[in-house]
Amino acid sequence: MYRTHTNGELRIEHVNKTVTLAGWVQKTRNKGFMIWVDLRDRYGITQLIFDEERTSPEVMEIAASLGREYVIQVTGQVIERESKNPAMPTGDIEILVSDLQILNESLTPPFTIENETDGGEDLRMKYRYLDIRRKPVRQNLVFRHKVTMAVRNYLSEKDFVEVETPYLIKSTPEGARDFVVPSRMNEGQFYALPQSPQTFKQLLMVGGMDKYFQIVKCFRDEDLRADRQPEFTQIDCEMAFVEQEDILQMFEGLTRHLLEEINGVTVTDFPRMTYDEAMRRYGNDKPDIRFGMEFGELNEVAQHKDFNVFNSAELVVGIAVPNGNTYSRKEIDALIDWVKRPQIGAMGMVYVRCNEDGSYKSSVDKFYDQQDLARWAEKTNAKPGDLICVLSGDVHKTRTQLSALRMHLAQELGLRKADEFAPLWVTDFPLLEWDEETSRYHAMHHPFTSPKPGQLELLESNPGAVKANAYDLVLNGNEIGGGSIRIYDKKVQAKMFDYLGFSKEEAKAQFGFLMDAFEYGAPPHGGIAFGLDRLVAILGGQETIRDFIAFPKNNAGRDVMIDAPAKIDESQLKELHLKLNIENQ
Ligand code: ASP
Repeated sequence: MYRTHTNGELRIEHVNKTVTLAGWVQKTRNKGFMIWVDLRDRYGITQLIFDEERTSPEVMEIAASLGREYVIQVTGQVIERESKNPAMPTGDIEILVSDLQILNESLTPPFTIENETDGGEDLRMKYRYLDIRRKPVRQNLVFRHKVTMAVRNYLSEKDFVEVETPYLIKSTPEGARDFVVPSRMNEGQFYALPQSPQTFKQLLMVGGMDKYFQIVKCFRDEDLRADRQPEFTQIDCEMAFVEQEDILQMFEGLTRHLLEEINGVTVTDFPRMTYDEAMRRYGNDKPDIRFGMEFGELNEVAQHKDFNVFNSAELVVGIAVPNGNTYSRKEIDALIDWVKRPQIGAMGMVYVRCNEDGSYKSSVDKFYDQQDLARWAEKTNAKPGDLICVLSGDVHKTRTQLSALRMHLAQELGLRKADEFAPLWVTDFPLLEWDEETSRYHAMHHPFTSPKPGQLELLESNPGAVKANAYDLVLNGNEIGGGSIRIYDKKVQAKMFDYLGFSKEEAKAQFGFLMDAFEYGAPPHGGIAFGLDRLVAILGGQETIRDFIAFPKNNAGRDVMIDAPAKIDESQLKELHLKLNIENQ
């Protein structure tokens, strides 16, 4: 037996017991006649003591040779510590070692294996296995496990069956590029890695599985934005014989359960908002509703004066910053610079100080009197002491800019509290989205999403106005899940492909299997997928999903530990019938 106990287990009641422990040397303190070693494993740290008077000279000698991260096994007696450490669960005891074996030596690690390490991100990623020895990383992985277990138990309880779907498939249109895998046995042909199991889960519904889920890897070859992973995990779900309401209730249930079980938080409100409303009130389809600062549209009260910037704008819109009147001129200028940065792209910002005495002072006093500004305050819900920030321009861009400002200010003002949870369903998304690049409409969610009842007719006359039976689940300003009620009628699906610009042949080549399946009694069905990595990070009260992934890729999509992607041998290329067409190979 390598050990009788773990390093997180022993307490005062174990005193006098003879135990065997194993683990890593966290640190040693050598006074010559006495040596202390902190022994670590996943479960905790236990202090070992080697004492000249009570430990044999041979063991003393080995103890003196121990380096950081050596793997050792010790046998000894649990004794009460003279100076106890109440900060440690094992802090009342120590082990008086009688026997010590070095199981493996270690090089000095490139960074300290402590809660607060001196290692930078790149170094920690290169030696991720050492990083995982650190408690915060280890805890995150255990936390992730807890969340996935809670998900599995909940869904299983509700009669969902976890079914695995293949990774080597044909392209699924979720809007990103596919990662492809060349087939050795089928010359010139490629598999694609799934962007999601979308078509398979629909086929499982045709197959009568009724309720499916899968905690599954998905692969999307997108330009990497900060904190995106080319492979990520979804909690993928599908149900048959359901309407939108059934799905919303089922997954509201799951979300409540997770918040309760993982965070001990009971959410009372689970509001819903249409996409249009979310855009109007927050300029964003995933609003953080933990704080106010809702948009006030000012066209009516700010146009038709002599201020041309506003008169020529499609939208004039503002937010009230609570207690923002305390901002100095310099601080307001910094905000103006912030919205003018290319990433935000506003032309400028108008502001109104709402004084405690009920008067106003604005950057456009030349054009607006106190009465005008009072109406702005009314529209933005500004109180005395607040600051109103106003942007103007094209509807969509202006909303996006003001939404970014709202989030920036909320962050600065500490309004985004990690331990507060505000879920929200956003429903009635547009079915289609205009794509500037290709000058045509694309499916906003995916081409299997059904339009709202009675809206299909609008497709020809006013495609942009067609609403979809699609919904997102938002938590604290993050989209954590999204799904839709699907098309299950072959004719409707064919019409959708046709509308999205697939020729009959293309539709057949890509999705013939699904269309065929729809010929054999497909039930009405719908589903949702949650992004597990982000969900876990939010429940864990943290921002970075990478911290909750055992072996993540960096921002360039590389695994710096195994050094992937990498070249392959000429012989492998040949076997795969591939020839690289790259200079300087
Ligand atoms: N497959 C979709 C996605 O990955 C989710 C769904 O519609 O269920 O976003």
